[in-house]
Parts: sequence; C-alpha cells; structure tokens
Amino acid sequence: MGQESKNGWLFKPRTIALGLAIAVAVPATAFVSGFFAGQSAAVPPSEIDIQVDGFAQVLTLASWEAETEPQPPAPITRVVAVESGDNLMGVLIRAGAERTVAHAAIQSLKGSYDPRRDLNVGDELQITFGPGTIRSVENAETEAEDNPNYVLARLTIPVSYDKLIDVSRNEEGEYNANEVERPLTREVVTASGQIESSLFVAARDAGIPARVLAELIRIYSFDIDFQRDIWQGDKFELMFEQFRGENGDVVHEGEIFYAKLTLRDTETPLYRYETTAGNLDYFNSKGNSVRKTLMRTPVDGARLSSRFGKRKHPILGYTRMHAGVDFAAPTGTPIYAAGNGTIVQAGRNGGYGNYIRIRHNGTFQTAYAHLSKFARKTRKGARVKQGQVIGYIGTTGRSTGPHLHYEVLRNGRQINPRSVRIPSGEKLKGAELKKFIAMRDARDVEYTQLRDAGTRLVENSADEQ
Ligand SMILES: [Zn+2]
Repeated sequence: MGQESKNGWLFKPRTIALGLAIAVAVPATAFVSGFFAGQSAAVPPSEIDIQVDGFAQVLTLASWEAETEPQPPAPITRVVAVESGDNLMGVLIRAGAERTVAHAAIQSLKGSYDPRRDLNVGDELQITFGPGTIRSVENAETEAEDNPNYVLARLTIPVSYDKLIDVSRNEEGEYNANEVERPLTREVVTASGQIESSLFVAARDAGIPARVLAELIRIYSFDIDFQRDIWQGDKFELMFEQFRGENGDVVHEGEIFYAKLTLRDTETPLYRYETTAGNLDYFNSKGNSVRKTLMRTPVDGARLSSRFGKRKHPILGYTRMHAGVDFAAPTGTPIYAAGNGTIVQAGRNGGYGNYIRIRHNGTFQTAYAHLSKFARKTRKGARVKQGQVIGYIGTTGRSTGPHLHYEVLRNGRQINPRSVRIPSGEKLKGAELKKFIAMRDARDVEYTQLRDAGTRLVENSADEQ
C-alpha cells in the first residue's frame, strides 16, 4: 500500500509489530451505541467542525425497524482544539456543553488528569454529544444549543502520542474517566538523499521530520564536523520508525535504527544497538560506540563561523584571543549539552550575554554564550544529559549576530575544542560483538529490502511544506 503522506514521503510501510496496533475497546462504546436504537439523519448545524461518529454511520444501516417511531437524533462529535488562554471548562462550553454537566465531567478526571497542568494549547479534544434527558433549564444557553435534548456523552483528551483520557457518561448520568492506549500502527521507513549544501538542508528538503533529523545530526556529531567534513555530492541514508494514529496521520517519530553517511566515498554506517548490560547506543560497523565524552558540534545545522585562536575582534577592533569556537545559526536553534554533567552557571554574564557552563568531570567543563533564552530546566545545579537541549541560539551580550560561542575548558582554562583528545566510548568484544554483528547484518538486509521495495522520497517534497 504505497501512499503519499502529508510529509511528502512515498513509502511502502511495513508494519513490523502488529502488537502495537491493538484496537482498544473504549469502555464508552456500549453506552454510546445505546443511543442508536433508532436513528435520524438530522445533524444539527454548528459553526464548529462536526464529525458524525463512525458508530453512528454503521448503526444507521440497522435502524430501519425504528422508521416509524420517534427517532432520537444522532450523536455529534466535535473536535475542538485548545487555544491560548483556554481552560477545560471553557473548551467544553464552547463545544456546547452545559456548565454543570461539564463540571461533573471535569470532576471525574481527578487523580488521572489535571487540566490545569496537562492541557496544552493545540490539544484536540473529541467531544461527543448524545441524546439525553438531564438538562438544567436555568442554564439553557449551553448544552448543545442547537438541540435541547443533547447532553455531553463522551470526551477524549490526548495525553501523549500513545495515550488518551476517555471520559464517558453512564446511564445514571455519572462520568467516569479512564486512561486508554491509542491504537497505533508502527511502521519502518527508509529515506535517502544527496547533499548539495548541508546535511541539514538536504534532509529537511527531503521531508525528514525535524525530530529525526535532530537525532541524525546528534548521533553523527561525535565524529563529524558538519562544516568541514561534508561536501557537495555526499549522501545520506537512514531507516527509522514512526507511528500512525487512527486517522492515518503520523503521531510520533520513533528511533533511527540505521543510518549511513557517505562522505567522499567513505561510508560511515551507524547502528542502534542495546548491549546485554542494557547500554543503548549507536555503534559503527566494527562495534565501537559513537559516544564520546564531549560533542564537537553542540548545535543543529550550524556553520562554523569563527575558529579558536588569535583574531581581530569584530567589535572591539583589536587582535585578541578567541577562546572558543563560534557556530552561526538562526536565533532559536536548540543548543545541546555537549556531555553529561552538572550546570554550574546559567544566567547573564557580561559580554557573554546569556551564558551556561557545564561541569562534565573533574577535568572538563563546557561553556555556551550569547543565548537568546534558556531551556526550561536549565538552572544552576541541574544535571544534564548529553544531547539534552539547554538553551537556544541568540545574540545577547557582545555579539554581532546570532551564533553560539562554545568553549571547552580543561582544568579551568579554555582550550581548542578541536584539539581535545576525546576518549572513545564502548568497544564491543567477544560474544557481545558476535551478537552485534548478527544484528548489523540483519539490519543491512532489512534496509536493502525496504529500499528496493520502493521506499523513496518524493521529489520536491519541500515545496509542499
Ligand atoms: Zn566566539
């Protein structure tokens, strides 16, 4: 079933784990279905997006026997997106729920969902109204204003890409909330392309999702200097997983299993692998982990704009030591912690502007300057993991334009980050290496099969975005 998605991919998905595509029996189904003993095709008009519930359409076919009897109206499902400044009560009322009923539904969330904390702008709530008799006449402005017999029957709130909260009304008019798993389909897709200017641009233009691209850059950033090592005509290939929701949209991008950069005829494949001891990492074809103590390029898609060493200062005009390296990238580009460690400084720091310093061990620290802003969890004393976003590129302090000034300090003194002898990560040996090689060979076959089965990026996919 080759198909073209919104992202502009043409792929031949292969559903690997059907176990993940479990159809969840929603507890409310039986109750909601109870509405449809008889059916009317009359759907009240509304200015809000209306979807007729799938159950209703199916059950309409079986409703012929009730033709002559008074027919309760069909349920309506409205999909309402949370807007800035919304609270859950406001969203439910906007959808047409009555205040006291909405309150009861919200009360049922206690213990499983806190709307004030968990409701996010952009969340899409499905709100279903069905025929009901409980209605407060005093508050007649609200409950499904188009039809006085409608009552809030069911509400689903997304919690994460794979979970949602389902609130349903029982025959006594009480609301119950349950967390349910969303039925997902997992698929593995491949992508490939040729680099004209940078990996970042080529991958983005090819329609690779931003999260996958960030991960691709991160796993190669230990070894590759994206400014110096990448040339026109270099190639990339990768294989990753993604998850689709019930409506077929991609709701989550999973892990990259395999990637290969071909840089001037040198192939550098990487494989995701979990060791018997539980260390999950990317390994090259020889079974050496890519993880190093410090990343060379702690920012996505950046251009090295100034090297370490003596230079004429662009603002002060005289020659002075440039104690770090500069990476130019647009304001707001995420900056990563170059290694695991503890934040020892995060705040304003003179000409450095917004500044972060991380202590990695007794010998090494790294510093990041001119940030536009800090990531939410960035504060003095916080532990950070390698690759974690700590802040965003900016041009605060003494700076001529958006860039990251990045320093590596050894025993408190700035050194050239490119001269640091970085101890390499784990090298697989013996039985572990054998196991890895078996996995590696299986991945190679899997990639080739998927690719040859017609997995290709659509040309000009970037135009659609
Ligand atoms: Zn600098």
